[in-house]
Amino acid sequence: MTLLPEGKLYIDGKLRDATGGGKFEDINPWTGEVIAYAADGTVEDMEEAIVAARRAFDESDWSTNSAKRVELVRKLAEVMKANREKLLEIAIKEGGAAMGACNVAIVDGPLNFFEPLFDVYNTIEWEKAMPDKEVWGSTHRRILVKEPAGVVGAIIPWNVPLYITVGKVIPALLAGCTVILKPAPDTPLMSTIIGEFAAEAGFPAGVIQVVSGKDPALLGEMLVTDPRVDVISFTGSTGVGRRIMEKGAPTLKRLFLELGGKSASIIFEDTPNFAEAVGQQIVCYHAGQGCATLTRLLVPESRYAEAVMVLEHAYAAYGQMWGKAEDPTNFMGPLISERQRQRVLGYIESGIKEGARLLAGGKVPTDKGNGFFVEPTCFVDVTNDMTIAQEEIFGPVLVVIPFKDEEDAIRIANDSEYGLSGGVTSGDEARALRVAKRIRTGTVGVNGGMSIDVDLPFGGYKQSGLGKEWGVEGFEEYLETKAIGIRVQA
Ligand code: NAD
Repeated sequence: MTLLPEGKLYIDGKLRDATGGGKFEDINPWTGEVIAYAADGTVEDMEEAIVAARRAFDESDWSTNSAKRVELVRKLAEVMKANREKLLEIAIKEGGAAMGACNVAIVDGPLNFFEPLFDVYNTIEWEKAMPDKEVWGSTHRRILVKEPAGVVGAIIPWNVPLYITVGKVIPALLAGCTVILKPAPDTPLMSTIIGEFAAEAGFPAGVIQVVSGKDPALLGEMLVTDPRVDVISFTGSTGVGRRIMEKGAPTLKRLFLELGGKSASIIFEDTPNFAEAVGQQIVCYHAGQGCATLTRLLVPESRYAEAVMVLEHAYAAYGQMWGKAEDPTNFMGPLISERQRQRVLGYIESGIKEGARLLAGGKVPTDKGNGFFVEPTCFVDVTNDMTIAQEEIFGPVLVVIPFKDEEDAIRIANDSEYGLSGGVTSGDEARALRVAKRIRTGTVGVNGGMSIDVDLPFGGYKQSGLGKEWGVEGFEEYLETKAIGIRVQA
């Protein structure tokens, strides 16, 4: 098999190997084979990246020259769009994405986000006059000024790396920050290629760094603990988010955390197209490796048997519509790694042990070679206290839970340590909206409505995180607000 080009570090304006020349294997989840090698960044490399980012922030005009920032980010967008084919190849071969999924959030979505992000950027009020005020016998003119927050350490996961890079790095750069991007070890190339694009676009040295590494924690922890890094923008698991909070405490690090989810979709008995709505709930997109995926399906007891029957047919009909990389009708490929597959299989085993009924899937397919596949899986007769209803599986597993009435549905949806997303479906929009407002999550779709978009803030309640990505709030994560009072001379 032909290998993809090697992933290089991008530090202080230079594309280069890791100090000492270390590399690590990048595995193709469809086959289990090595697809490329990436630079195994060292402590020395990260130190150099932090120094460069600090210098570019403190000593260059990056933080003050907004016209230059817009011009270069526009150039970066052009370079990225011109390289769509390369990005697709990486998303498929490194990330395990199926072509149907690439067309949406994995590649084409992020490429199309630039223009709407510029629109959001243009709404930022950089300076705001507050009313004059009389204090101690004199008049004070007051203004609020937005300023870039400084050096940003962007630590990202493997599931949708390009989407998250655009969501973090572009607002941070436009805000005037300098950035060090640290990819997950499973998907280094989707970040190292951003270094190549930044070099091609002509970014000044130090404005963007990309430092990949084999160890999942080493380089990220350097960013979290270093006093020269002002902001950590992290997307990943709740467990690592907690550790980052702990490790960031001594330097009182400013943290933005996008964490895990276990989101519920409530389908009420009065939904006119009940069977269609239930049948659409199969968890298949990118093999369920999505933070906001609706993985708990809540259906009314009064129509429970019907819902189970619909799902049984839907899963049977789904049959072989997954697992083919190049097929644009396929949304589901393998899991990212053997480790992740074992984790998912462990949850399936726990579901069976705890008494849930396996309605579909649950096994490793025998016809798909050595890729890290697990069949689309559905558990019914689940109670919300089971492990499979409480913990984030991050695989193609749906759990179905019956509810008694509206209050019970709200109670079950909210009985979770997570609070990322949700869905409410009903024939009565006012009822669905009333329930949506009581769900303790950062986004909720009503009757299939899209609550996630570039101009809408996205982020978790409870242990799904702190802060927001996208929307004007997504820019605020990279801005400080300064209040200035001017005593007006009499
Ligand atoms: P992870 O938490 O294991 O790793 C995320 C990143 O953190 C990786 O780059 C990893 O190398 C790094 N890391 C690991 N240990 C670290 C440490 N001690 N200090 C600093 N950095 C460290 O997550 P993952 O397995 O890569 O991704 C899956 C998780 O991401 C899921 O929980 C999913 O819900 C979450 N996620 C959340 C969102 C969101 O927007 N809320 C989006 C996508 C994924």
